[in-house]
Amino acid sequence: MNITTDKFKETARQELANAHTQKFLQILPLRLASRRDSAYQSFPDPVAAHRYGQSIRDESIQRLPELLQVFETNAIANGARVFWAEDSRAANGYIVELAKRHGVSYVTKGKSMVTEELGLNEALTQAGIETWETDLGEFITQLLHRPPFHIVGPALNIPVEQICDIFLQKGVIDAPTTDPVALGMAARRFLREKFRDLQMGITGVNMAVAETGTVINVENEGNIRLNKSSPRILVCVMSLEKVVPTLADAMHMLRVLCRSATGQAAGAYISLDSGPKRSDEIDGPEELHIVILDNGRSAAYQDPKTREALRCIRCGACLNTCPVYGKVGGYPYGWAYSGPMGQVLTPALQGLGNTGDLIRACTLCHRCKIICPAGIDHPSLLLYYRYKDVVGDRALGGSGAGWRERFVHTLLSVAGSDHRLWRLFAKVARLAANRFRSGDRIHSMPNGPRGWFSSRDLPALPAKTFRERWAQMDPKKN
Ligand code: SF4
Repeated sequence: MNITTDKFKETARQELANAHTQKFLQILPLRLASRRDSAYQSFPDPVAAHRYGQSIRDESIQRLPELLQVFETNAIANGARVFWAEDSRAANGYIVELAKRHGVSYVTKGKSMVTEELGLNEALTQAGIETWETDLGEFITQLLHRPPFHIVGPALNIPVEQICDIFLQKGVIDAPTTDPVALGMAARRFLREKFRDLQMGITGVNMAVAETGTVINVENEGNIRLNKSSPRILVCVMSLEKVVPTLADAMHMLRVLCRSATGQAAGAYISLDSGPKRSDEIDGPEELHIVILDNGRSAAYQDPKTREALRCIRCGACLNTCPVYGKVGGYPYGWAYSGPMGQVLTPALQGLGNTGDLIRACTLCHRCKIICPAGIDHPSLLLYYRYKDVVGDRALGGSGAGWRERFVHTLLSVAGSDHRLWRLFAKVARLAANRFRSGDRIHSMPNGPRGWFSSRDLPALPAKTFRERWAQMDPKKN
């Protein structure tokens, strides 16, 4: 996948001017958020259920190295083959080589953020292996060569007329239609043909259970189940943080995940796979390969703060409550992970080099933190990233503050160290700023804060400070 996180501002500007995106954003996130809220009421004690999910993720991450070892041992005992991929090159190389070794000409895929992260489709295509996304939304975005707009509905923002055009162009339908049901059925029929002679299927993993070596997938369309049961070879790609200690933990996390993602008590299909097909089973893959992906996660794990981002279970609830996502949508985030989820994960995995605008595009309103079923404190992580960027932290690739920023902060810290100095500073700053006033507003200022005056004015500063007025009102108190 082409990473465009460094173009956050540029893409956000385009999306803000896109009437269709803006209309769509006024509906979907709010609807999903309200579905999530009502679904949570079906828990006997919603607050306890939320906290319990957070404590499971807390334990999973604290015990991550140990749980991964246990998972690997049990998955191998079940007959699966486990491959540890240090980065996307290793993961893609393993999968491409596997496909080539078995003479596979095409593969189908279930919706998976981690394979978006890897750019697996591009790697397979380059190796001459056709790839078909089988989730309806992913299928549409694949045909349109567009990234996913939302984790739950990757193509929900695409107008139906555009889907009709691309389906006609690619031979999915023979005659134009804008009936969503007819378009969905056509995609289903088209993909059924791909499943018929399928040799190799690829899916992500929603959860991996250490105690049983099981991989779990949740979905609503049945396509992942077909990806898993039709082919001879199944590859499940999981980022290493997806492991939980026990099956009971996984069951609770599934209840929380489904409610947070789509407002359902449970997804329509939940598949649990512990190893490949046994001799007495009628379907399922003969070979099950589990690729465990690192791709920067071990480095992020070293720091107890960035480690927090690994708690994420990709439910997408934070997107629906985020005022920034609610304005710009998913494209500006520029990688597989959008919204607050992307703002905490992308810098942890990619570093701060190209994510400076991403970590600053946050109002710190705390709504994502409140809603997150994994217990991630997004605002404090974003402040941490900003701090690391400003001090030029080497491990995270921080750029360091420019001379102007350093100068202003030095000035503020000197001024703030003594109350007389602070009053003098405030007086000078007020006089300097008010030189540019026009009536009761300041519309612009040479060398003023970048970006501020492009979209808003500053109220002119009052002639006297609170202290000065107070002293005039009651001199004894000063
Ligand atoms: S950060 Fe939290 S709310 Fe957002 S997708 Fe991850 S688990 Fe869900």
